[in-house]
Amino acid sequence: MCDDHPSTASRRTALGFLGASLVTGVGACAVPGNQSAGSPTAGPSPSSSASTAMSPTPSPAAPGRLRNPFEPDFKLPPIQGGLAPVITKIPTKHPVVFLTIDDGAVKSPESVRLLKENDYPATLFLTSNTVRDNPAFFKAFMEQGSLVENHTVSHNVNMTTQWGYQRQLDDITGMQDFAVQQYGRKPTLFRPPGGSYSTAMRQAVAAAGLKAIITWEAKANAGRMDYQYGHSLRPGDIVLMHFRPEFAADFEAFRSAQVAAGLEVVLLEDFLGVA
Ligand SMILES: [Zn+2]
Repeated sequence: MCDDHPSTASRRTALGFLGASLVTGVGACAVPGNQSAGSPTAGPSPSSSASTAMSPTPSPAAPGRLRNPFEPDFKLPPIQGGLAPVITKIPTKHPVVFLTIDDGAVKSPESVRLLKENDYPATLFLTSNTVRDNPAFFKAFMEQGSLVENHTVSHNVNMTTQWGYQRQLDDITGMQDFAVQQYGRKPTLFRPPGGSYSTAMRQAVAAAGLKAIITWEAKANAGRMDYQYGHSLRPGDIVLMHFRPEFAADFEAFRSAQVAAGLEVVLLEDFLGVA
């Protein structure tokens, strides 16, 4: 359902935007010599488990929520001109990777167990029409440290071409309301169905109170990793997965790649300061 890639034009826009924001982000957020900044120069941790990463100082967090042990070195660009920023990858020097899991079609206890056992927090882009049959299932992920975000009500992958601004806004705010009712938190991040976005969508996302559109450049799919660039995970990658029957195989593909790359799984919302 989410396999489409953003159009070339959209991607070019996003990269250009990121490039511009990176310049200001680095200048505003560098934290030289901060004792809580961890020790990324000491080399990647051999394990993704926070308990084995001794050097970073965990930031305060509610019990049961995984900490972000790294001082964020990227600042989310603000809404400008009524347009939500589009993020495809986080420019960071820290050995971090971000796991996102979409839709919510298959609700297996195995998926809860795998995230919990590995202590991986994930950003869950849920579609309300897809999870409406059992929304409570996803509360177990919140207890484990994950957060529910916005992936629309209807999952219309052609919404940017078929619908105008108001219809898109309605489909986005519908999921905002559903998330507040079911999970007690207003989402801050949005993922477009299929990955395509437009100026009208960026306006609607901002108007709905969301902070950013999140796409991806790597995904775990059909039991293996697919990379839009290169052949391995990079620091700051945002990885797409789905709640599908092959969840365990996809999860293992991601975990193997993440361990091989020496990256920590950190909650995207924590790193961006929008949890
Ligand atoms: Zn999707």
